[in-house]
Amino acid sequence: MHDVSLMHRAARAFDVAEGEALRIASTIECRLSLRLSPLVRTEFCCPVCGFRGRFANAWAMTGRRRHAYCPRCRAAERHRLQAVVMDALSVQHVFRSLRMLHIAPESMFRKQFQNEFGSYVTADLERDDVDLQLDLTDLDVADDSFDVVYASHVLEHIPDDTAARSEIARVLRPGGFAVLPVPVVCDATVEYPRPVATEAWHVRAPGPDYFDRFTEFDRVDVYSSDDVAASCQPFVYEDRSRFPSRNAPFRTPSFGLRHLDFVPVCYVE
Ligand SMILES: [Zn+2]
Repeated sequence: MHDVSLMHRAARAFDVAEGEALRIASTIECRLSLRLSPLVRTEFCCPVCGFRGRFANAWAMTGRRRHAYCPRCRAAERHRLQAVVMDALSVQHVFRSLRMLHIAPESMFRKQFQNEFGSYVTADLERDDVDLQLDLTDLDVADDSFDVVYASHVLEHIPDDTAARSEIARVLRPGGFAVLPVPVVCDATVEYPRPVATEAWHVRAPGPDYFDRFTEFDRVDVYSSDDVAASCQPFVYEDRSRFPSRNAPFRTPSFGLRHLDFVPVCYVE
């Protein structure tokens, strides 16, 4: 009996100690989160639709991305960065006087671009909800036809991306520009031996060095997430230390949980 009582008391003391440890831990966690809250923002403002609040996480084949989507207009990190960059370009150029060719048009930008630009033509290789069916590596379009070509997250699908950039430069009139962002997911560009189905048939994983290849243009201004207000959440929160993985077999690992996104604006003179 004596031994059992002793065990009960010991167990109760342990419970008390454990409870106290939990209380201290939760207090520390609470204080830390309060202290860090100005640094780790969880509420943002969408530059595409004006929504203010928390953004939704994305569950992609390649992994989870925190604070990825605007819950109202579904703008992702890249769309929000591109929207802010286009706002900046609208100050430098008179969009109303420009002709835009929008390749693989994103739904959240279609109406806006149609309203902003003097003329607006959509195109895609396969989709039928566009004005023209076009192969970007062999554009059935005359030289100098457009002032702006917009093709976001397209080049990483095209094996002969040099031909695609040459064609884009050819159809731009002198003084025109192309906006050609790709998903920058590795520290250095990796060319895949075959298209990867679980990455929407990407043929490469671009790194920041990918834009060095854009020699078809006379000048390339590369904007990054660091160039815009953090309140629009233009960063990609993703664990890339797990690469290569089953769904991203050729990507190389990189570290840190917050990554930059990029928007190259490519000019012809
Ligand atoms: Zn939005």
